[in-house]
Amino acid sequence: MKTTRFFVLMLLIISCKTPKEEPSVAKNTTETTPDKQPIGLVIHGGAGTILKKNMTPEKEAAYRAKLEEAAHAGYEILENGGESLDAVIAAIQVMEESPLFNAGKGAVFTHEGKNELDASIMNGKDLNAGAVSGVTKVKSPISLARAIMERSEHVMLSGMGAETFAQEQGLEMVDPEYFYTENRMKALQRAIEREETALDHDGQAAFYDPMIKDSKYGTVGCAALDKNGNLAAGTSTGGMTNKRYNRIGDAPIIGAGTYANNASCAISSTGWGEFFIRGVVAYDIAAKMEYQERSLKAAAREVIQEKLTALGGTGGIIAIDRDGNITTEFNTPGMYRASIDKDGKLDIGIYGE
Ligand code: ASP
Repeated sequence: MKTTRFFVLMLLIISCKTPKEEPSVAKNTTETTPDKQPIGLVIHGGAGTILKKNMTPEKEAAYRAKLEEAAHAGYEILENGGESLDAVIAAIQVMEESPLFNAGKGAVFTHEGKNELDASIMNGKDLNAGAVSGVTKVKSPISLARAIMERSEHVMLSGMGAETFAQEQGLEMVDPEYFYTENRMKALQRAIEREETALDHDGQAAFYDPMIKDSKYGTVGCAALDKNGNLAAGTSTGGMTNKRYNRIGDAPIIGAGTYANNASCAISSTGWGEFFIRGVVAYDIAAKMEYQERSLKAAAREVIQEKLTALGGTGGIIAIDRDGNITTEFNTPGMYRASIDKDGKLDIGIYGE
């Protein structure tokens, strides 16, 4: 009896002394509401010698309309709370299906008159990545890159093996004829003629020289930031006109043509691929941000205007960082590009400043 009274007394003392828990929920919501997570997206449709004097108003309007359509297709997904990876795919597919760009339907021809397509995608959240090179029958190479990333244990597949995988995954396959466009065929014929002229003049073995003065690269790409703060980037291309020997450019090379890392930014490149591979351009920009704490703009400017240019490379990049800052940088006369920023503002550009 005595012991029971003692315990009751102790309990009373303890309950009086223990301070009441603060009503933490109400306090936290007013004091620490996080800033609204920004979203944003930027795309490119290739860089190169794109000059106003060579453009008709109709052609310019067609490019602008397609860039706007692609940017909206991706941004709509972000606005509705969707993932950056889905936005990247949606924006790129609009351009893959258009003959205006060197990707999917508008892909350039190889020396043998084939279309060999390359693409890659990267998820900034977990650094997962997928890439494909040299496919001839896959309607949307960017969706194959994603399937490789998410449904295989590999990062990169090529040629017939990649096509078998695409088929097994139920991706849409097309007859290689689907990629035929007259404009691209004419461009191949012009490139071959130039090559033959070079051979006539110097009498040496003709070697494929992609540094033709009017080269337009035309690859497509997208970088996006979603409402969960996840970055993603993707790139899709037909490569370079008159390529041979199963040449592979930078577009399917993670770190060169495509890179995304939530710690820094998401990037897609376009240009003379060999130089982007040698300069590991996309990763170099991200690394400068991460290790040197440079802004996206400063890092991109240095890598494109100084390092890539010093190597002799031409082209550009589009990128978005984890705070939603968007940058486009190129050392060619023009780059087809569009972005929709964190305030929903659409910006479309073709020529240099
Ligand atoms: N970078 C691509 C390649 O070298 C070409 C392009 O950007 O249009 O394959």
